[in-house]
Amino acid sequence: MHPTPPSVDRPYDVLGIGATSVDFVYQLPAYPTATAALAKMRITQHFVSCGGQVATALATCASLGLRAKFCGVTGTDDNAKKVRRDLEDRGVDLSDVVIRDVSNQYAVILVDEHSGERIVLWDRHERLALRERELPPEAIANARVVHVDDVDQEAAIRAARIAREAGTPVTSDIDRINDRTMELVSAVTFPMFAEHVPPALTGVNDPAGALRALRRSHDGILCVTLGVQGAMALEGDRLIHLPAFAVDAVDTTGAGDVFRGAFIYAYLQGWPLEQTMRFANAAAAVSCTRLGAMASVPSRKEAERFLATAQPVI
Ligand code: ADP
Repeated sequence: MHPTPPSVDRPYDVLGIGATSVDFVYQLPAYPTATAALAKMRITQHFVSCGGQVATALATCASLGLRAKFCGVTGTDDNAKKVRRDLEDRGVDLSDVVIRDVSNQYAVILVDEHSGERIVLWDRHERLALRERELPPEAIANARVVHVDDVDQEAAIRAARIAREAGTPVTSDIDRINDRTMELVSAVTFPMFAEHVPPALTGVNDPAGALRALRRSHDGILCVTLGVQGAMALEGDRLIHLPAFAVDAVDTTGAGDVFRGAFIYAYLQGWPLEQTMRFANAAAAVSCTRLGAMASVPSRKEAERFLATAQPVI
């Protein structure tokens, strides 16, 4: 898979730049709605788990055995301490984390216990935004991959440009549409989209057609995750669609982040794209069988064991 990753002599396998969150997860017997029957319901179970796109992807990388480093802004409240402790306990390097005296990003996540699908309600203090001058150029040049989300888009675009100048490939989590989304797409090596993004960017409704339309503005591998439909990628002219693996999903929170963390792991092993996507689908499927984002990331053994007998969703 192109480009070939930089050598293992670099001190970090992956540097993640982006968001953390503390998630208050409530598992419910159904989705709440304003109709009388579903406006009140008893919570089946609840707990607190750390998450956030980049933090969860990095937790996955660390759990799979990569040397991971995080750069982003955290607050000073108990949630911030919890997320930093959790990342540190997983072996993620936090020496370039920025701490500002505000409350950390958090989310309330409502999970439908039957489908595992969820609603995410979140809040983030303005001062948690990462500034371009807070980016660590040395760490960017010392990583084998840089992973960015689009929460602080300007910093992400700048980080991707610094990385590519240093010969560091950039993976991404592109989930938002605004007037700078295409700039971010062009800046990264591997644009990795949420399902709704390619159609919204191109006006083409089917994911395959939308990826082909995006080919005009990016010549690298274009990837989109499609929930229970699995994942799709376009490498040159070749379209690969791998269905998801069948599991009893209890919570899909963080599945896209686990997919990206596992994709980074597989890319760094030098695996071909199809094998990379298969492994990423497997790691993400395992994460759907457990509650929480960072709480659900699989180890390498778990992902491999699952893959040995996994069956695709029909
Ligand atoms: P996000 O979490 O960003 O919304 P997706 O919902 O597209 O991302 O899911 C990411 C990946 O997780 C999918 O590509 C698939 O591999 C896996 N996945 C998601 N939902 C399920 C499910 N119900 N069963 C099995 N795998 C799933």
